[in-house]
Amino acid sequence: MGDYYEIAANHVDPAARHVAHQTLIVACRDLGITDADRPAVRWFSEPSAADRAYIRRYGEHVAERLEAGGPGVLEGRSIRGENVVWLRSSAPLESLAETVAHELAHLVIGRQRGGGWTASERARQEAAADAYGQRYQLEDRP
Ligand SMILES: [Zn+2]
Repeated sequence: MGDYYEIAANHVDPAARHVAHQTLIVACRDLGITDADRPAVRWFSEPSAADRAYIRRYGEHVAERLEAGGPGVLEGRSIRGENVVWLRSSAPLESLAETVAHELAHLVIGRQRGGGWTASERARQEAAADAYGQRYQLEDRP
């Protein structure tokens, strides 16, 4: 499990922030989410040695909230009851739009249906989020 910390947006690549913001606007419009209900974007990272001093002073430890999920690198996360799309600050630009759309789909599905998911419902939700995210995949991606 990762050792995740929140990264202030002004420490994130402006190009990544731009992609995330624009994708959120387009996908919210597509899904009928009003501007007032549009989720916030927050960023997380596993800190490098150089990040640690900054994080000790200013960072919020968000590991407990972001943990769980499957194996592999965590690129994004959404948490039921929080209107936030969490994104890895070092995520590749090429896959960022897809990650934003995927996490937004999770938030929308979670709103439509409360808690108490069975394993197969969770798998269906993941498949639905994957399918929606893939609509934002770059076409020239291998
Ligand atoms: Zn997912």
